[in-house]
Amino acid sequence: MNIRAIAISIALITSISGWVNTQHASAHEETKISKQTDSKDKAIIERPDSYWKSKLDPHTYQVTRCSATEPAFSNKYWDNHRDGTYVCSNCGAILFDSKDKFDSGTGWPSFTKPQSGSVKIRPDLSIDIERNEVICKRCGAHLGHLFTDGPAPTGERFCINSASLNFDQNKPAQNVR
Ligand SMILES: [Zn+2]
Repeated sequence: MNIRAIAISIALITSISGWVNTQHASAHEETKISKQTDSKDKAIIERPDSYWKSKLDPHTYQVTRCSATEPAFSNKYWDNHRDGTYVCSNCGAILFDSKDKFDSGTGWPSFTKPQSGSVKIRPDLSIDIERNEVICKRCGAHLGHLFTDGPAPTGERFCINSASLNFDQNKPAQNVR
């Protein structure tokens, strides 16, 4: 191996090692950001009821924190047909996409599916009929209920209170972590 070949090899090794270091640093940075987001989310879900009571207007508080149901056909979004994204009215998490909204005839905003990983489902035994409650995964807000009489392809109907949502016409839909 002549001197020129050795010099090229050294240059190559140096640049590869620099690239590896950069990749390592960026992976490290991503882990750091993800941990920060996790702890921020943990802080949101642990906020006491008094926090939400002081932050939310009485109607939104009743629906999202006391599981009240809005009257059908008399709420903000049941008849909203614009393209956009629906976010949680309590914490701003992206919950539903207008592409998944359909006219269920019930008078409440209805969706065939939520954004991936954005909601949690838990049994609701508050009345005689067994229902599944839909809550915001990030902040625990009551959103509505999940029924299995929805259209294809999911067969599911997420029946959601408008007070749990804010509509954002400009926000592109994307998955919540
Ligand atoms: Zn939320």
